[in-house]
Amino acid sequence: MATIPTKSRVRELPSDVNISGRNFGPEELKNLTKVLESGTLNCTKGTWVTQFESDFAQSYGAPYARCTTSGTAAIHAAIAAIDPEPGDEIITTPITDMGALTPIIYQTAIPVFADVDPYTYNVTAETIAAQITSRTRAIVVTHLFGNPCDMDPIMELARSKGLPVIEDAAQAFYTEYKGRRAGTIGDIGCFSLQQGKHMTTGEGGIVTVNNDMYTRRTRLFIDKAWGYGDKNPDHYFLALNYRMTELCGAVACAQLQKVEKVVGARVRNADLMTSLIADLDGVYAPALTPDSKHVYWKYCLRIDPAQITGGVDAFARALKERGIFSAPRYIQKPAFACEIFRDQVTFGKSGFPFRGPHRQGLPPVEYNIEDYPGTVEALNTICVLPWNEFYTDEDVRYIAEAVVETARQLRV
Ligand SMILES: *Cc1c(COP(=O)(O)O)cnc(C)c1O
Repeated sequence: MATIPTKSRVRELPSDVNISGRNFGPEELKNLTKVLESGTLNCTKGTWVTQFESDFAQSYGAPYARCTTSGTAAIHAAIAAIDPEPGDEIITTPITDMGALTPIIYQTAIPVFADVDPYTYNVTAETIAAQITSRTRAIVVTHLFGNPCDMDPIMELARSKGLPVIEDAAQAFYTEYKGRRAGTIGDIGCFSLQQGKHMTTGEGGIVTVNNDMYTRRTRLFIDKAWGYGDKNPDHYFLALNYRMTELCGAVACAQLQKVEKVVGARVRNADLMTSLIADLDGVYAPALTPDSKHVYWKYCLRIDPAQITGGVDAFARALKERGIFSAPRYIQKPAFACEIFRDQVTFGKSGFPFRGPHRQGLPPVEYNIEDYPGTVEALNTICVLPWNEFYTDEDVRYIAEAVVETARQLRV
């Protein structure tokens, strides 16, 4: 997305792709030096990853946390801990990162998509309930952009059906819901430490386990299911190596000390932004889940196409001319419209687990866009602004001014 600044007033905004918008400093460097000097880069022999795991668990009040190589690996460990049978269904959202979906298929389960609320972009107890069948094995909820799902009714539904809940909190570090941290409300929480997240090791992930039933399988899955510390250790089941390196662990320890400040700065910036665009018609600040704390991984504008000429695409184009980049329609299309789902491109030509002997007598797995009015509306109206803890008040005023001017220019 190269930019041609057309106006002299174009301002360079801090960005999470490089040091302008990332907070690495002497703390990370000091830890990294110690790791290298120790000569132990592997977490099974080192101390940094273990230290981070206990620090993170403690900061979250979670009983258990385990590091992985990515957020995708964290989700994979969560699904593997639940251990679905081939063809079991796992309910999730069509607006998420593909890394939250492919692990379901690798664990031989079929992703079933619940519609989202068109204002919060999150799944709800109602949309999840509509997808529950006798084959449902688990529910994955994503706290999209850092705003929590309305968890009370979701947990009530899940408990009434005996279904475990996995929270994808990759975009939701220190997000709160009714005084509780997102990621500690369901049975398992998943986090990503990828470059663009609130805290980062470049690549990395964390799983928190709140239900003892899943602790052992989560731990084993990340390390080839080898029974470290057991009397007669063995490789107990099919599993991978998703262990984090000590280098990442050392950076993660330093990042954890900073994340609260990162979240605080993002919330302050976002609140200023919201106050500056409060009077607009047709362009709206992010919807907030009541009684909760949004941590603004991104700042999402909602563009009402009935009030803004040309809708979200025209809006993003006009914003760009004012030097502000955005992602209209976020992921462009619901996840189930991607080739992997549309053409069921999985294991060889088998189409497994969408097709196969376990599906005998069952109708084909199909995803119909007509069943997802909330998702369609969400993607048609969302304009995602990058957001950063290093934005100054002037940066925010600059962004807000562009948004206000664009809204006036395109008002129907
Ligand atoms: C980033 C992200 C992931 C995947 O994390 P990786 O570290 O990139 O594998 C999963 N889910 C959501 C919601 C994400 O934002």
